[in-house]
Amino acid sequence: MTVEITCYGGVNEIGGNKILVSDGDTKVLLDFGAGFSEGLDYFDSGIDPRHVNGAGDYFEFGLLPELPGLYSETSLKNTGLRHAPPEIDAIILSHYHSDHMGRISLVDPDIPVYCGATTALIHQASSASGGSSLDGREIRTFRTGDRFKVGAIEVQPVHVDHSIPGAYGFVLQTSEGPIAYTGDFRFHGPMGSMTDDFVEAAQEARPVALITEGTRVSTGDKKREMGEAEVAEETTRLLEANPHLVFSSFRGNDVDRVLSFYRACEATGRRLVVSMKVALLLEELKVDKRLKVPRVGRDVSVYLRRKGKGGYDDSDYYKWERRFLDHGFTAEDVKKQEGKVLLHLDRWYLPELIDIRPEKGGVYIHATTEAFNEEGEQDEKIIRNWVDHFGFDYHQIHASGHAPMERVGGLVNRIGGKKVIPIHTGRPDMFRKLAKKGDVVLPTKGKSIPL
Ligand SMILES: [Zn+2]
Repeated sequence: MTVEITCYGGVNEIGGNKILVSDGDTKVLLDFGAGFSEGLDYFDSGIDPRHVNGAGDYFEFGLLPELPGLYSETSLKNTGLRHAPPEIDAIILSHYHSDHMGRISLVDPDIPVYCGATTALIHQASSASGGSSLDGREIRTFRTGDRFKVGAIEVQPVHVDHSIPGAYGFVLQTSEGPIAYTGDFRFHGPMGSMTDDFVEAAQEARPVALITEGTRVSTGDKKREMGEAEVAEETTRLLEANPHLVFSSFRGNDVDRVLSFYRACEATGRRLVVSMKVALLLEELKVDKRLKVPRVGRDVSVYLRRKGKGGYDDSDYYKWERRFLDHGFTAEDVKKQEGKVLLHLDRWYLPELIDIRPEKGGVYIHATTEAFNEEGEQDEKIIRNWVDHFGFDYHQIHASGHAPMERVGGLVNRIGGKKVIPIHTGRPDMFRKLAKKGDVVLPTKGKSIPL
């Protein structure tokens, strides 16, 4: 049988992974994500692809592959591509970040999605609080140690450490030998040793091809390496030194970050106040004992935004929100004890500061990655304006979800692999220097690479 790898996304870009592996009649997609910079020549925060047009607006600019037997009937309604019964046997999802799963909503619901058990919990929380790209499709879960077959391909998922729980890499046994796929990974998170487990499993398989991410493979990555433990330490120091309100924005599904902030609060006698969405996620994840998430009510409180006619009436809140009203912290509550609070405030909730009216002299912690495109820079500028307007200090404290360049090189050389295929990177060419053995094959979007 001929085995081929075709990358439809993540090519010369960070994120947007869509990797088709075909082995004879068996076809699986490794991730089906939305690229961060995808279509920015045509779309921006003011011009979005129309939901109602399904895949049509994406096809117009070549942002999604026109593959037969992949998309749902509704997604194709207004396109030149005819709906056909599924020709893709499965989507194998590495983790619940939109650059890996954001386009699954357009896929035929008859194509099953395989994901980690924790990813399924994160999906449930997202689904209940506004919707998830995995809604309405069959989800089959796995854990490290499992092996499952999709047609001719046997899949071995192995956990990796990343900035969201439930992230995996894979070893695929095909009729022409094993293929290893890293997903997104780092070694400097609290569970860094999980990435070593993946590397060992991949190395043992002696893959004929290694598909690896390289987010931080670039000439510009001069960031001082900060681990998640340091995030907790530095946050603790900041909280100790400041008598005023401290607030932060960070990706709420980065549970390691929630824990770091929670620990910093514990050490300094502050209360961590999170958004309702984060609270719901923590509630969902508490069944996974290994994650040790803080408990809503006991450990963390929930920020209560004014809704409806401007009050806090039960009936103004969504059903899923009402369970948190008892643990709610209103703007007035935050104001009353501002030196005793660390408030998680997503960027889009910044106007809440107008209600809180914090004393000048507090601190804002920018706990997300630095901007990597113009849109991101504009977002950052706006945050800085809010922070300045309220007389707060701006601090960046962040541990990346991705390994730095040397560690990516280390992984590539430890695993080996006759072919090394760099994806999820702006500089795939730099892998030619990093990889000491094996052929580095630079993928071209939509062009298949035979094994
Ligand atoms: Zn990614």
